[in-house]
Amino acid sequence: MKPLIVANWKCNPTNLKEAKLLFDSVKKRVKSIRNVEVVICPPFVYLSVLISQNLSSAISFGGQSCFWEEKGAFTGEVSPLMLKNLGVQYVIIGHSERRKYQRETDEMINKKIKAAITERLKPILCIDKLSQIEKDLKGVPLKEFKNLFIAYEPLFAVGSGRPCPQEKAERMRILIQKKLKRRVKIIYGGSVNSQNAQIYIEKAGFQGLLPGGASLKVKEFIKIIRSVSQS
Ligand code: PEP
Repeated sequence: MKPLIVANWKCNPTNLKEAKLLFDSVKKRVKSIRNVEVVICPPFVYLSVLISQNLSSAISFGGQSCFWEEKGAFTGEVSPLMLKNLGVQYVIIGHSERRKYQRETDEMINKKIKAAITERLKPILCIDKLSQIEKDLKGVPLKEFKNLFIAYEPLFAVGSGRPCPQEKAERMRILIQKKLKRRVKIIYGGSVNSQNAQIYIEKAGFQGLLPGGASLKVKEFIKIIRSVSQS
């Protein structure tokens, strides 16, 4: 399997011009890089324009979250069906910043995962603790696990510039794999940069990465992708 690199732009940039520029710069450079799948997760408001700017490119798109209902009286929400209809393929669910600032609970995350699966989106479930897996995936049929990614994102490493030590990350990857009987793909997120990206893939055995801050810096993000495509 090609490593999956998921760029989480979070709540950046603040205008469409910059979003288009960032996307275009990444798209041009990614064209020549093989053996890696790149997913860009911009804020919802830019998705539609960037998708239309992406014709014939190898980049896929992801949402940074989604609601659990398809449509209706849910002010401010974006449904998985809306994302699917735009041409989005992936969706990040349960990111630690949403658990913290939007007070998303495991129960809400579980509903979101199920709704995303119903729309054939590929969920990228972010967890910090092993115990979250059971609650977040409760009732998800085993046959759906093949389209699911778990992102191990230790809280202390997200946005802090303090990446998780390789051995600790690897131990957690093995525990997740054991718990889910090797059925899911596991990626790492938390202060990923061009210096440590290859270590998480080659040494710690992850199948992809979820860079946040580094995905907003074109040169650094491309270095991450290149280092992983060669590992
Ligand atoms: C993230 O956005 O999930 C993340 C891990 O951010 P950062 O790479 O900035 O730590």
